[in-house]
Amino acid sequence: DMEVAIKVVVVGNGAVGKSSMIQRYCKGVFTKDYKKTIGVDFLERQIIVNDEEVRLMLWDTAGQEEFDAITKAYYRGAQACVLAFSTTDRESFQAIDSWREKLEAEVGDIPTVLVQNKIDLLEETVIKNEEAEALAKRLKLRFYRASVKEDLNVNEVFKYLAEKYLQR
Ligand code: GDP
Ligand code: MG
Repeated sequence: DMEVAIKVVVVGNGAVGKSSMIQRYCKGVFTKDYKKTIGVDFLERQIIVNDEEVRLMLWDTAGQEEFDAITKAYYRGAQACVLAFSTTDRESFQAIDSWREKLEAEVGDIPTVLVQNKIDLLEETVIKNEEAEALAKRLKLRFYRASVKEDLNVNEVFKYLAEKYLQR
């Protein structure tokens, strides 16, 4: 059997929890001070989907998003994408459209999922449920609410992407 390997890019504004999500998914830990991927381009995890071995390579932006300068190399060959925003950051929610456009311009239409992270901070939310659901509907994307901190729905996000990729 040929092993399936999928390059997954995780995009969204700074501080929404992208690096933490990658770290959590690939290592199972949540490190509060985790900032950047240093010295490596991606972390990986192998899972079984429909009896197939799938290797997910999760690429981290290493903070480039703050300068609106994510390089073409980051997107090159991407086969799936997580679009992430934060429960406590309205700008990150409003920026999803432009992240989607950037993604499409670089790699076209690839399996993509919309994630609202930091759902553990729901009492501090600045985004109404209806708005988030309306965005997902408009973009025709599967939508997950997740907490990297509490390890809620993180596995589900990547399992969905792997399944979606295999279905193509
Ligand atoms: P990035 O800039 O998108 O890569 O975001 P980071 O992964 O560096 O996370 C930014 C901050 O949010 C860090 O202080 C994380 O500890 C924190 N964080 C990430 N995920 C969660 C979460 O689910 N809940 C809470 N409360 N904090 C989180
Ligand atoms: Mg980061």
